[in-house]
Amino acid sequence: MTGTALTFDAEAYGLSTGHLIVPEGVDCEALSLPVFSLNKGDGPRLLITGGNHGNELEGPIVARRLVEWLPEAQTCGRVIIAPEINPLAVQAWTRNTPLDGKNLNRVFPGRADGSVSERIADAVTRVLLPMADIVFDLHSFAPTWNCAPSVVMHPVADAELMARTVRMAEAFKLPVTLVWDYHDTAGMFDIVAQNQGKVFVCSEFGGGTVSADALAVYEAGVHNALIALGLVEGKAEHPIFRQRQSTRTLKTLSSDELQSPARGIFEPRCSILDEVKQGDLVGVLHPLESLSGGAVDIYAPTTSFIYAVRSGGYVESDEELIYFARPLKL
Ligand SMILES: [Zn+2]
Repeated sequence: MTGTALTFDAEAYGLSTGHLIVPEGVDCEALSLPVFSLNKGDGPRLLITGGNHGNELEGPIVARRLVEWLPEAQTCGRVIIAPEINPLAVQAWTRNTPLDGKNLNRVFPGRADGSVSERIADAVTRVLLPMADIVFDLHSFAPTWNCAPSVVMHPVADAELMARTVRMAEAFKLPVTLVWDYHDTAGMFDIVAQNQGKVFVCSEFGGGTVSADALAVYEAGVHNALIALGLVEGKAEHPIFRQRQSTRTLKTLSSDELQSPARGIFEPRCSILDEVKQGDLVGVLHPLESLSGGAVDIYAPTTSFIYAVRSGGYVESDEELIYFARPLKL
């Protein structure tokens, strides 16, 4: 059935546009997801997706900016761009799909007869994924976080694919390349792609609200990666972010995820990319019920870098407040 859900011929030379049709199901009518195919013949085959989580708008914006300049700049290969793979969540500005309450990035490879999130995942997996050997899935963490400009991957069992994926991630030249030993990877898009031997990286940057400065850094990172792949010509430069111009390759383990000891309002006392020592004060939690102040000091559990900081939202006990990252030794 591969290819039957695209409304256009993605093999045609040059720029072609159309839709990926996600068939109707029990919960909604068919969806039409915009897709752009930029085919300049032999070369790397890249898929760029945005809007996997609907409240992360940097990805869709950067993907649509690419559509404006890449057709001119691309010299070889093929790039498929799907700026918003979950338009229902983008319209609602929610992480999960409103109709079925599911996180699209936990239901891959999906099901053709499932709920709408599962049907989207199925269409992306069966139609778009086979057209690429490399995938950039453009995220921005979440609106209640500040996150370092980064390219993130999960550990890959195949050492050769792991090394290729790290190289691809580092080619963005964003301040952080992160290998995240995440505990909850079942149903993620990257796992499905990596199981097919594909290089898959997620860019993560921002959170909160979209800004022109953040978008410029984000887009520069994607541009660097396109240069590294040989899809466009040019010289890759480290984007300037907070006066820093280098890439650190780090890892985050489950022990680097700091959870809140209680419910309350979290006050960060650290910023992304800060280097902290074990025992440094990194935040304060203010319980609403307390009449005596009762603020709870929160300390860094390890000597490490601050990768992402909770920047909004009342926190419940055990919710994540800070993600730390430490140097990766490959
Ligand atoms: Zn996301």
